[in-house]
Parts: sequence; C-alpha cells; structure tokens
Amino acid sequence: MRKRVLVTGGAGFIGSHLCEKLLADGDDVLCVDNFFTGTKDNIARLLDNPHFELMRHDVTFPLYVEVDEIYNLACPAAPIHYQYDPVQTTKTSVHGAINMLGLAKRVKAKILQASTSEVYGDPKVHPQREDYWGHVNPIGRRACYDEGKRCAETLFFDYHRQHQLRIKVARIFNTYGPCMHPNDGRVVSNFIVQALAGEPLTIYGDGAQTRSFCYVDDLVDALVRLMATPERFTGPVNLGNPAEFTILELAQKVLALTGSASRLDYQPLPQDDPLQRKPDIALATRHLLWQPRVALDEGLKRTVAYFRAASRAAPSLRVAAYA
Ligand code: NAD
Ligand code: UDP
Ligand code: UDP
Repeated sequence: MRKRVLVTGGAGFIGSHLCEKLLADGDDVLCVDNFFTGTKDNIARLLDNPHFELMRHDVTFPLYVEVDEIYNLACPAAPIHYQYDPVQTTKTSVHGAINMLGLAKRVKAKILQASTSEVYGDPKVHPQREDYWGHVNPIGRRACYDEGKRCAETLFFDYHRQHQLRIKVARIFNTYGPCMHPNDGRVVSNFIVQALAGEPLTIYGDGAQTRSFCYVDDLVDALVRLMATPERFTGPVNLGNPAEFTILELAQKVLALTGSASRLDYQPLPQDDPLQRKPDIALATRHLLWQPRVALDEGLKRTVAYFRAASRAAPSLRVAAYA
C-alpha cells in the first residue's frame, strides 16, 4: 500500500524537493499551497506524475482530506516575505498548526512540523543544542515568524501530550539550493543573483556574522528519516550543516565560483539579525543516523548552475532589497 502523504507548502523551495523525494520513494503525494511564495514552476516537473496531486489552499482554513502522514511546511521563510504581512505570518504558523494538528488527530496521521533555528533567536549559547530555550525579541520585526514557530512547537507538544498525537519537530537551520526564490532576500540567492548580474554583493553589517548552510538534498533526506523514526522520538531535533562560515566568506566563495568581478557593498545590519548560528546535530546523528554530505562549495556550485539557467531564461532577474 502506498502511503498518502500531505505536504503543506509543497510548492515552495524545500517543499518541492520533498515532494519529489517522496514520489521517488513510492508515496502518493498531496501538495497543498496558497502560492504566496511558492510557484507552480517549482513543481511543474511533478505535475504529470499520477501519484502527485496539487491543491490550492490556505492552511489557516480547515482542510478535510484523508492522509497517513503530514509534513507541515506552509509558512513564508525569508524575512522579506514573512515581514510583508506579519499578522498573516503568525496566523499561518499558529492557525495553520492547529488545523493540521486537528486533521492529524481526526485521521490519526503522523505529523511533522518544519520549525526553525529562529526559535533560538539571537543565541547566547553556541553552537545551539535542542535544550537551549532561546533568546527571542517578542516584539521585534522577526517576532511574527520566530514566535509563530515557537507557538507552533507548543501546540505540537500539547497535542502530543493531550491527544497522544504522533509528532516530529524539526528545527531547520539555513538551507539553500535550486528552486530558492530569487527575490526572497536570503543571502545565498542574493549573492549568486548579484554576482551573475555583475552587481555589487550587499553585505549587511561588517559580514562577520556567521551562518551554517545546509544543502537542500541533505535537509530533505533528514526530514524523511525523521518521519520514519520510532514513535517515542518526537524531537525537537536540529537539522542543518554545522560547517560555519562568516557572510564575508560566503561572498568570497560566490565570487570565486561565478568568476564575477562584483564588488562588495556594505549596508546596515537589519534589526535583531543573529550574530552567529551553528547547529549541534549530535541528536540527529544519533537518532536519524544522518550527517549532511554536500559541502558548501559543491552545493553552491549546483545552486549557481540553477541560477545561471534561471537568469538566462529571465535576463532581468534581480534581487529584492531588504525593506
Ligand atoms: P518557501 O517560502 O519557499 O516555502 C513556503 C511555502 O509555504 C510556499 O510555497 C508558500 O506559498 C506556502 N505558504 C505560505 N503560507 C501559506 C498558507 N497560509 N497556506 C498554504 N501555503 C502557504 O520557504 P522554504 O524555505 O521552502 O521553507 C519551508 C519551511 O521550512 C517553512 O515552514 C520554513 O519556516 C521552514 N524553514 C526553512 C528554512 C530555510 O532555510 N529555507 C530554515 C528554517 C525553517
Ligand atoms: N480540522 C481540520 N481538518 C480536520 C479536522 C480538524 O482542518 O480534518 C481543524 C478544525 O477546523 C479545528 C482544528 O482543526 O478548528 C482543530 O481541531 P481539533 O479537533 O483539535 O479541535 P476542535 O475541532 O475541537 O476545535
Ligand atoms: N545578508 C547579507 N546580505 C544579503 C542578505 C542577507 O549580508 O543580501 C545577511 C543577513 O543580514 C544575515 C545573513 O546574511 O546576517 C543570513 O541572512 P538570511 O536572510 O539568508 O537568513 P537568516 O538571517 O534568516 O538566517
């Protein structure tokens, strides 16, 4: 029997790769998306597959379908997008979680939440382990996303305790790869699109802040492994690549890989921008028997190839400025 798997946010960057992997593993996939940041282009390659179904739907509204597993990814993930309509962002995380948990409860499905390293805020503990409670500004511009995701985690654990739901909570760290939105303002897509266009690379602050970048194939592999863990393992579990780089190092790698002569343009650091971030993945390594395999140089090479093709198809491709 094929598993019936619901992926909310399935037309987004990570969701589209996840749908593809689940189909390849032999599942029936129902992709639900309101196309706020996701696109049909991301899943165009899947539309002919009879085991793939696409539904336009906003998860802040109830959803009645019959499925065995749910991956809840619906939520804009990049600051430009989640700050565009912050109230809707919180609603998507909170009401979306309630609806998907209600659905999981009714059909007794296993449900996985795409949480985020942002639950740690601007961390005072480095690297971040799952038992760190975080350092989040509850009233800042990032709060609609960070606090929405924190509340979603609370709801997952309360449904687990109160209704014995089978839950999995993944705290995803910065992920990159093909199908990233060119205009979402995230650093990897920004730098690559800028470098390919010969435009200055915008460095916010002095570029000494750090991030740890995980290639999307590694992340999707971890999500599927997490879903398959024994019932007692709920997470939260960090998923990311612990190799840590400064933003300046990233800019230099992108310049080298694209052969671009773009200069660096220093701009002010946005409010509440975390200074450092690196996952401790000991828990994932132990329970998922998983380690990221794609190094930053290799992943960037594949991502540059994707954006090179995308900018050939749309020569006016440009990044969005941070509001
Ligand atoms: P994305 O913006 O490409 O994907 C999100 C998808 O959700 C989009 O297709 C969007 O249209 C859809 N969506 C948004 N609101 C919705 C709603 N109300 N109803 C239905 N669909 C809705 O982002 P992504 O990078 O693919 O992120 C996917 C998930 O992973 C998100 O939940 C995000 O918070 C989480 N995450 C991503 C990263 C990362 O580095 N990319 C890091 C941490 C967590
Ligand atoms: N829900 C849904 N699909 C379902 C079952 C429930 O979208 O198949 C929604 C429903 O609209 C409800 C929410 O999930 O608002 C929470 O459901 P739950 O059963 O936990 O709570 P209740 O219905 O008692 O408020
Ligand atoms: N950043 C940058 N230039 C850009 C976009 C982002 O220097 O064009 C910085 C940003 O200030 C942050 C880091 O890169 O310190 C990662 O930003 P991103 O939005 O990709 O992810 P997040 O801040 O959510 O980790």
